[in-house]
Amino acid sequence: MDIALARAWVQAIAVAVDEQKDYLTQLDSAIGDADHGSNMHRGFTAAVAAVAALEPASVGDVLTKTGTTLVSSVGGASGPLYGSVFRSMGKALDAPTADPEQFVAALAAGLESVKRLGAATPGDKTMIDAYTPALAAFQRSVGAASDFGAAAEAAADAAETGMRETTPMQARKGRASYLGARSVGHQDPGATSTALIFRTLAETVNA
Ligand code: ADP
Ligand code: MG
Ligand code: MG
Repeated sequence: MDIALARAWVQAIAVAVDEQKDYLTQLDSAIGDADHGSNMHRGFTAAVAAVAALEPASVGDVLTKTGTTLVSSVGGASGPLYGSVFRSMGKALDAPTADPEQFVAALAAGLESVKRLGAATPGDKTMIDAYTPALAAFQRSVGAASDFGAAAEAAADAAETGMRETTPMQARKGRASYLGARSVGHQDPGATSTALIFRTLAETVNA
């Protein structure tokens, strides 16, 4: 990972979120307040603009700027949650390049911070349910000395599996939890955007 790749990743997330905006909102209309697509779109459009205006000295500068912009531009829960992920990743990547081990450590720091902030655990039907298996797959793949692209691909696949596994879960965190048993049978919007973020990383790294 280097500065150019980090920039390209953030841009690619914005493009993917733009394409999937209606789908994310549709998922959120079933078990939330129908704004996840617009929240993500607003946040990542602002992040791309903020990163474009930046002269980053490190990978972390790009990711930290992305995180602070998400916090300040998104009103919903996902703004501070994804904001904390990117800020924690940024803090962990204080150099112009990062090797796969350092990148995985940053991803782990991101997951820790969103768990601390949102107090969700696996099975609560949140973004954590895509993030946790994605991180585990990334760690396994990097540990097995796979290249960065293959590790990112494995993480994206695992995130999508985790995303699909949120459908039968009953939500215990966020707005969807207000629905109780009626949240069962719907895929979680935040797990879906997390899978999108990991898929976009794999596509960017392998481009
Ligand atoms: P809001 O619910 O405020 O409208 P969004 O619709 O943008 O915010 O995001 C909803 C998503 O945020 C959910 O689908 C879920 O994945 C995630 N989420 C909500 N609360 C939490 C939490 N406490 N921890 C982790 N993720 C959460
Ligand atoms: Mg919402
Ligand atoms: Mg909302």
